[in-house]
Amino acid sequence: MRVLIVEDSEDDARLLCSELASAGNDLTYKQVDCVSGMRAALQESDWDVVISDHAMPSFSSLEALDLLKQSGKDIPFIIYSGNIGEQVAVSAMRNGAHDYVYKGNGARLIPSIERELKNAAIRRAQKQAETHIYRLAYHDELTGLPKRNLFCEKVGEVLSERSLSGAAAAMYFIDLDRLMRINNTYGYAMGDALIRQVAQRLKDCVGETGILARVGGDKFAVFKGSIADSREMQTFADHVMESFTVPFAIDNLEFDVTLSMGICVYPDDGEDVSTLLVNAESAMALAKKLWRNNYKYYVKEMGEASSRRLVLETSLRRAVERGELLVQYQPIVDVRTGNFTGAEALVRWNHPQFGLLAPDKFIPLADEIGLIIEIGEWVLHQACMQTKSWHDMGFYPLSISVNVSAVQLGQPQLLNQVAGVLTKTGLDPACLELEITESVLMQDAEATISMLRALKEMGIKISVDDFGTGFSSLSYLKRFPIDILKIDKSFTRDIDMDPDNSAIVTAIAVLARSLNLSVLAEGVESQQQLDFLRGQKCDRVQGYLFSRPLNPEVLLPLMAQKRAA
Ligand code: C2E
Ligand code: CA
Ligand code: CA
Repeated sequence: MRVLIVEDSEDDARLLCSELASAGNDLTYKQVDCVSGMRAALQESDWDVVISDHAMPSFSSLEALDLLKQSGKDIPFIIYSGNIGEQVAVSAMRNGAHDYVYKGNGARLIPSIERELKNAAIRRAQKQAETHIYRLAYHDELTGLPKRNLFCEKVGEVLSERSLSGAAAAMYFIDLDRLMRINNTYGYAMGDALIRQVAQRLKDCVGETGILARVGGDKFAVFKGSIADSREMQTFADHVMESFTVPFAIDNLEFDVTLSMGICVYPDDGEDVSTLLVNAESAMALAKKLWRNNYKYYVKEMGEASSRRLVLETSLRRAVERGELLVQYQPIVDVRTGNFTGAEALVRWNHPQFGLLAPDKFIPLADEIGLIIEIGEWVLHQACMQTKSWHDMGFYPLSISVNVSAVQLGQPQLLNQVAGVLTKTGLDPACLELEITESVLMQDAEATISMLRALKEMGIKISVDDFGTGFSSLSYLKRFPIDILKIDKSFTRDIDMDPDNSAIVTAIAVLARSLNLSVLAEGVESQQQLDFLRGQKCDRVQGYLFSRPLNPEVLLPLMAQKRAA
């Protein structure tokens, strides 16, 4: 027991110690009898109890008690004095003394100390629990950053000061673009490690100049309480974007993380923290929709439309995070031999309420909000992994066709994604066919051509999907580095009845041969259609005649029967 004795008489102090020791206490003590001594003692050590005489020549118990309170320490304070009156004792207790005992009354002093030690321990435990609960409730465990509630409190405080000065402030809402994909591919531990690094990088960007919080799984907010002008506001946004151009390294792997950011201004775009957060978030959603890896300022008209889209977006995002997506495979057949040469990967959403949803129901939305980049990369990874495992079972060189949307094709990072997936899965690039619809191909020809070249340099094949619907001219088509024309199913449908359609298919087949391209017809449902296509020297076919898109475990026995030559 560490006892601080406030006492001018050394004899009394010694007597007190021997009384405490005789009660079986292992004692450390110090005796003080003046302001400076008391101050020093409080500073140098954590005492378990202070036992104080009442009146001393140059000090008093009330002064000692005051010093203890000033120190902020919660230490039991017991007055132990012979000449204290009832009234003084009561007022000392009111002031915070824990007990008073007449000098020499050891029989009462010892239990009093024991009781107060116990009470102090309870108070400490309570305080610890409160601090712990506060941390849990207000801080994100993973990153140590404030959560939304604490962020709102802190920003609210700053705003209430700001409203007096009228100065501008800025709210930034940041959303990572690819976290879900990393969770799905590498597991949540990797995703968590990445979040921690992202948080650190944001901390470095924000420094002491603002308030940073993690307001959702992959969402962060930054509030800068004092902004001189719009240039300063933009400089910070640029700085954050710039800092994310450096990849994140975890366990010898490198991750490119991009982010979408929305910015709004106090007081123009909102006068309280929740309005500012909502508006910055809808600006972020627009940035994500237009082009990821970008930032966008809030404009008022955004409000309503974006909140509706956010609801839809959230449900699709959740679907992706919960693993509700799956890939089915539709076999592709060699016209001459009837063997399976490969399959097309087609994504589905296994919706908890509506059952299996076709891609038309959600791919356009995913395209619009940019989520297609994550979904597309996930599908690519699944498909390549599946095909590699088929190869390992002896089905080499079965090919896999994967659809690539316009948004994906417009992103330079597509190259890295494809290369990354090929490396990770170990699939032979010659067995991968990327399908790009004809209309997309024509949108931004120059950029598309260089993207396709780069993909082909990896050894991948390029297929023009839905061919015939995009009205490309022959001379135009020649400029694109492509390998396969995939005739749209609308032409295949009435091939044997509609003379126009059969003429178009014939023309496409001739065109393809002149350009040295392979021809694949999709949507083949009947033997007549197949016979016609065989007559046109079509190379491969795909359609319900052979098989609907199937789960891999259902497809496997079929493949074993129709083993590729
Ligand atoms: P698509 O690329 O033209 O895919 C072929 C569609 O035709 C598939 O529809 C397939 O199930 C269907 N189909 C196959 N054989 C026949 C047949 O004999 N008759 C008829 N009537 N239809 C047949 P699905 O699976 O509903 O996919 C629709 C579209 O969604 C696809 O059209 C593709 O554009 C898109 N899509 C599917 N998966 C993905 C993906 O992973 N990424 C992207 N970006 N788009 C995808
Ligand atoms: Ca396709
Ligand atoms: Ca198609």
